[in-house]
Amino acid sequence: MRTGMPKEAESSLSKVRAYVARYHAEFMATARGELFCTLCSTIVSHDRKFSVDKHRQSTKHRKAMSSTSQQR
Ligand SMILES: [Zn+2]
Repeated sequence: MRTGMPKEAESSLSKVRAYVARYHAEFMATARGELFCTLCSTIVSHDRKFSVDKHRQSTKHRKAMSSTSQQR
């Protein structure tokens, strides 16, 4: 019988997916179930919502966001 992933990893992955769904222009999920910021090309800790919010408010991220929107 296949047990799949431990509960903790599963809920972690669903968190990542929720962030990706909400901010699909900014994040993607890696194969390892990590939250990857496509604007900054960096892995973002998603353990706490605070970490993601903090990253989104960082200067680097906001600069990348504005340069992306200016490309149109
Ligand atoms: Zn970023």
